[in-house]
Amino acid sequence: PALPYKEGDPCRVGIMGGTFDPIHYGHLVAAEQAAEDLELDVVIFMAAGSPAFKQDRRVSSSEDRFAMTLLATADNPRFVASRLEIERPGITYTADTLAQIAVAYPSSVELFFITGADAVVDIVHWHDAARIASLATLVGATRPGYDLERARQAINESPIDFQVIYLEVPALAISSSYLRRRCAAGQSLRYLTPDTVCGYIRKHHLYGWEQVTGETMP
Ligand code: ATP
Ligand code: MG
Repeated sequence: PALPYKEGDPCRVGIMGGTFDPIHYGHLVAAEQAAEDLELDVVIFMAAGSPAFKQDRRVSSSEDRFAMTLLATADNPRFVASRLEIERPGITYTADTLAQIAVAYPSSVELFFITGADAVVDIVHWHDAARIASLATLVGATRPGYDLERARQAINESPIDFQVIYLEVPALAISSSYLRRRCAAGQSLRYLTPDTVCGYIRKHHLYGWEQVTGETMP
């Protein structure tokens, strides 16, 4: 996406990656806190195309996940939703995404890859982890149910020299899985994700709400 900066000026860009199936306030509050604390000029929400480690479960279509990401981020002047990953064929690797972003912008642009404490533990084992470390600073956000100490330990034990900033974000003990389960049980998603996303889920019959109750979601 076009960035809000003048050619040559330093620009700090956050990248919030996720499957976003669906996006929820946990993702949004982590990105907002990172933007504030790290003085990011923009946070790019990168909906994963075909996530490498979610090959085993049915993921909603890229277009549905992107649409919800766009709706959820539309009213925040610092947030943008990107189609970069969903338009790249094959399995999605973050290293490829960061490399693509790095070549698209001048060297005055600094990249920050924002993740929750659970994802930090995984990243050290990701495809091309060393390339990820060379392209971006990791931002490890607190997430209820996951120990940030374990993230620190994984980073310290890794032979790769990751630059990591640990970040305290308002605690929301929610996940996309939890929202999908609530939906399938006919429970409301209100106050867990923006109303626009609730509306989109209802309109497009995602996550099987009607299958259970035969009604539309409240
Ligand atoms: P799922 O339950 O399907 O795995 P999820 O809620 O974990 O979904 P993802 O799309 O897997 O969402 O996560 C994208 C990123 O957002 C990850 O880095 C994850 O750690 C982070 N994240 C998700 N939920 C929260 C939350 N409640 N607080 C902080 N970070 C979160
Ligand atoms: Mg997850």
